[in-house]
Amino acid sequence: RAKAAGRGTVCAFSQDMDAEVRDRQMLEADLREAMAADEISLLYQPILSIESGQVTSVEALARWTHRLRGQIGPDVFIPLAEECGFIGQLGEHLLRRACTDAISWPPHIRVAVNLSPLQIHAGRLTATISGILDQTGLPADRLQLEVTEGLVIRDVERTFIELERLRALGIQILMDDFGVGYSSLSYFERFRFDKVKIDKSFVTDIASSRSSRAIIKAVIGLGRDLGMSVVAEGVETTEQMEQLIGLGCTHLQGFLFSRPLDSAMIATFSQTRPTATSLASAA
Ligand code: C2E
Ligand code: MG
Ligand code: MG
Ligand code: MG
Repeated sequence: RAKAAGRGTVCAFSQDMDAEVRDRQMLEADLREAMAADEISLLYQPILSIESGQVTSVEALARWTHRLRGQIGPDVFIPLAEECGFIGQLGEHLLRRACTDAISWPPHIRVAVNLSPLQIHAGRLTATISGILDQTGLPADRLQLEVTEGLVIRDVERTFIELERLRALGIQILMDDFGVGYSSLSYFERFRFDKVKIDKSFVTDIASSRSSRAIIKAVIGLGRDLGMSVVAEGVETTEQMEQLIGLGCTHLQGFLFSRPLDSAMIATFSQTRPTATSLASAA
């Protein structure tokens, strides 16, 4: 009897797996069409300088509105695009869109685009990006690229060579989600990142966890000594904001200031700056 039950369990499990695999395959096929059908768009989340209270950059975040399933998050479809070999095309499409949108904003606002590790390992990235900058007319110093530690570990030498080439064009390179994953401090010796972004998990725990606070402090110290700005992401409360300002963070991003916005709203948001007063009074 135990054996039969066991087999039943295995069977149900593998049927689930089949359904999951089929579902993934459908979604993969949809993803390729979605790009052409313009179902994938970008929203932009403001990042504020603590010193000036102004929006100095925005992060481009991909959104997919599936015609039947509704919103599908980038945490789902970016890995899917990576697995089915589609990330190169999708990433290029998103970069072109971000640069085109950025042209319509006030010129002091930079745009930060997330890069998938595979976009670098596919090669030709510098040529592709420099082509996009030429076509859209966006000055290279208004583009930032966010890379994660995962990007760096696969092929360290080649990655840093490519990042140097991109930087030689005038593009800023940011270390994203620092502190999670396989952080290695030696990356900072190997490459001078322009900015480091503290992962929101540390920001969320800043009030309750001594170790989160200690890690944030250490990253800010590192930033100060190595000439990197330090952005805290996922700031949701004034208490978090005040602590981050107290610790010497240079830039803030989070729902407290703004959710990701439509491109058309960026110019307006950067003019009204609803949070400038709260930032100033906290500083
Ligand atoms: P990320 O690059 O670390 O982006 C920050 C994420 O934190 C975004 O999630 C953003 O909406 C969210 N966030 C910002 N402020 C807050 C806050 O105050 N509270 C909370 N709870 N969340 C906040 P999102 O848009 O779902 O993106 C998730 C991840 O998907 C990104 O993490 C990035 O790794 C990836 N991603 C998004 N767009 C792209 C893209 O165009 N290309 C690539 N390669 N990856 C992308
Ligand atoms: Mg990012
Ligand atoms: Mg991040
Ligand atoms: Mg993240």
